[in-house]
Amino acid sequence: MEQASNSVVWSVEEAEKTYRVKRWGNGYFAVGEHGNIEVTPRYDQPKLKINLREIIDEMASEGIEFPAVIRFHDILRSQVEQLNRTFRNTIEQAHYEGHYLGVFPVKVNQMREVIEEIIDAGARFNYGLEAGSKPELIAALAYNTNENSLTILNGYKDEEYLRLALLGTKIKRKMVIVIEKFSELTKLITLSKMLNIEPIIGLRVKMMAKGRGKWESSSGERAKFGLSITEILNAVSLLEKEGLRHTIKLLHFHIGSQLTDIRAIKEAVQEASLIYARLVKQGVPLEYVDVGGGLAIDYDGSQSTNDSSCNYSIEEYINDIVYGFKQSCDLEEVPHPNLVSESGRAMTAHHSCVVTKVIGEIHPSGAKYNTRKTTGEHIIVTNMRTIETDLNQSNFQETYNDIAQLKEQALQAFKLGIMSLEEMAKIETLYWRILSQVDALAQRQEFVPEELKEIPEMMSSQYLANFSVFQSAADSWAIDQVLPIVPISRLNEQPTKLCSLVDITCDSDGKIDKFIGEDTIAKHIPMHQLKEGEDYFIGLFLTGAYQDVMGDMHNLFGRLNEVHIVSYDDDPKDFYIEEVVKGSSVDKVLSTMQYTPEILAQMVKKEIDKQIQRGKIKPREGVQWIDFYEDCLDGYTYLK
Ligand SMILES: *Cc1c(COP(=O)(O)O)cnc(C)c1O
Repeated sequence: MEQASNSVVWSVEEAEKTYRVKRWGNGYFAVGEHGNIEVTPRYDQPKLKINLREIIDEMASEGIEFPAVIRFHDILRSQVEQLNRTFRNTIEQAHYEGHYLGVFPVKVNQMREVIEEIIDAGARFNYGLEAGSKPELIAALAYNTNENSLTILNGYKDEEYLRLALLGTKIKRKMVIVIEKFSELTKLITLSKMLNIEPIIGLRVKMMAKGRGKWESSSGERAKFGLSITEILNAVSLLEKEGLRHTIKLLHFHIGSQLTDIRAIKEAVQEASLIYARLVKQGVPLEYVDVGGGLAIDYDGSQSTNDSSCNYSIEEYINDIVYGFKQSCDLEEVPHPNLVSESGRAMTAHHSCVVTKVIGEIHPSGAKYNTRKTTGEHIIVTNMRTIETDLNQSNFQETYNDIAQLKEQALQAFKLGIMSLEEMAKIETLYWRILSQVDALAQRQEFVPEELKEIPEMMSSQYLANFSVFQSAADSWAIDQVLPIVPISRLNEQPTKLCSLVDITCDSDGKIDKFIGEDTIAKHIPMHQLKEGEDYFIGLFLTGAYQDVMGDMHNLFGRLNEVHIVSYDDDPKDFYIEEVVKGSSVDKVLSTMQYTPEILAQMVKKEIDKQIQRGKIKPREGVQWIDFYEDCLDGYTYLK
C-alpha cells in the first residue's frame, strides 16, 4: 500500500479484496457497483439489495445524529431461520432420531427488540431462550411464552433464582435448571419438595476437551462452571435417593465462545456423547444434550484459526454435531438425544453495525512551517535543507538515515538551549517533507530496502472518528478482537491513506489499531483522503453480539442513537426506518452518576447571576448562556 497515489487501476473488486467484505459479510454485506456498502438482509432474497448510503442519507434528513447503530431486523431473522433450518435438514439427511431445540443465550444481546425479534422468528421452530442470571431469567419468563420451547437456566443460582425457575414450571414453561455447582442441587431438592413442584434438571459437565482461542479456560479441570465426573455420579445417586432421578433430562456442556478450530468441536462432541451414553446405560433418563455456544464468527474474513476467525462454516459445525452424536449413540446402542445449542454470537453479530463520521486527521507532518533560509540559522537546519536539495534516485536510502540522525541532533541541541523553537519547527517540516520524497523514490524500486518498508507506517495518519471504543467496540479494547471497519462510500475510488482510528474519549487507549490485513492482522487500514465539506462515513461491522450491550460509560458518552431497518419490497429503496431509539442525552448519563440536571442548571445560573450583578455580563446575554447550557444538557453526548 503506497502512500502517494501511484495510480493502480481501481475497481470495486479491488475494494472487495482490500476490505474482504464478502468474506466476513456472510452474504449480507458486499461492495456495491455504486461504490457504497450494499446490504442483502434476507438470505432467501438475494436480489433485495439496500444501499447503506441511502439509509445514512435518510437518517441525516430525519435529523438523526451520528454515531448511530443501524439494526437490520431481517438479518437477525435470517440467522435464526438458517440455524434452525440447517439443524432440521441435517437431522433429516442423517436419519437422526432426535429433534433440534435451540435456545438463544440472552447475555449476548439483551435488548428487548432483539429478543422479541428472535422469539418471533424462532416461534415455528420452538426456538427458546437461555438465561444466565436472575435479571435475564426475569426477562425470559415474560418473553418466552412458547410452551414447546426450552428455557435453559445456566449460571450460579441462589434460592430466589431457583424459585423463579419453579414459577416458570408452574406456568407450564419447559424450564431446565442446569446444575453448575453441586450445592445448587441440595438447595433445589429442598425447594422443589417444599413447593411441591417437580423440576427439569440439567447437569453441566466439566469437559476435558478444550476450546481453542480466547475462551479456552471455559473447559478443563480448572473451569469455573460444571461438575466433574465424580460430582455427576454423586448428583445422580443423590437424586435417586430423593426419588428424583427421573427429573434428570439434560446433559450440558459449553467449552467456550468463538471456537476457532473445528477440531475442538469434534473432540467435545465425542467426549460428551460418551458421557451421555454411559449415563443412559446406568438408567439416567437423559432426553437432551445441550452443546452450549461457541459457533464462531469470521470477523477478519481469513477463514483461519486466528482468534477473530474460524476454520469452518455453520453447516460443518452442525454436521459434526449431528453425525457425531449419531455415530457414538449407534455404537453404544443408546437412543439419539434431542439436540440443544446455545449459539449467541452467530445469531446476532451480523445484524447491527455502528456508523460514524471521520471528523479529522492527526498526522505528524500535518502542520507546515516556512523553511526558507534565515541569516544566522543553526547549522543543522542548513544541513537538513541541503539534504533535501541533493536527494536523488541513488542516495535515498542514505538520506533516510541522515535525516533521522539530524533530527536526533536537533533535539539534543534544543535541550542544550542552542536551537530555537522556530528552528525546531523548520527541522520537523523538512524532516517529514524529505521522508515522503524518500518513500516515493523507494516505492519506484523493484525491491524496497527492508529498513525503508517502515516508512509508510511512520507516515500513516490517525483518523479521528466520532465514537467511543469503550461504548461501541468493547472487545476491541479488552481482548484485541478484530472488527471489520470499512468506509461506507467511495469504494470505487482508490484509498490513498494508511490510517489507524482514534475515538473522541480522553483516553489514549481509545483507539483501534487492528484491522483486516492482506494476509494477517494489520495495524493500519487504507482509507480515502478526506475532502473539505464532504462527510466521510465509516462503518464498524458485526457489532450485534456482545459489543451492542457491553459498552460502558467511559467519559459519559453513553448509548448511541439507533435505527431499526426493515426491508420492504414495495419501497423504491427497499427499506424503511421502522423505529428510532434515541441514544443517551447528557442529562440522562449525568443522572446515572447521581447528578440532578435541574440542580446543575441552577448552580450554573447562580454563577452567571453573580457576574450579572458585578456588571460583567449583561442580563440578556446571561439568559442566553443559561439557555445554551440547558440545551446542551438536553442534547446528544457525542460531537455534533
Ligand atoms: C456465553 C455463553 C453462550 C453463548 O456463546 P456464543 O459463543 O456467543 O455462542 C452459550 N452458553 C453459555 C453457557 C454461555 O456462557
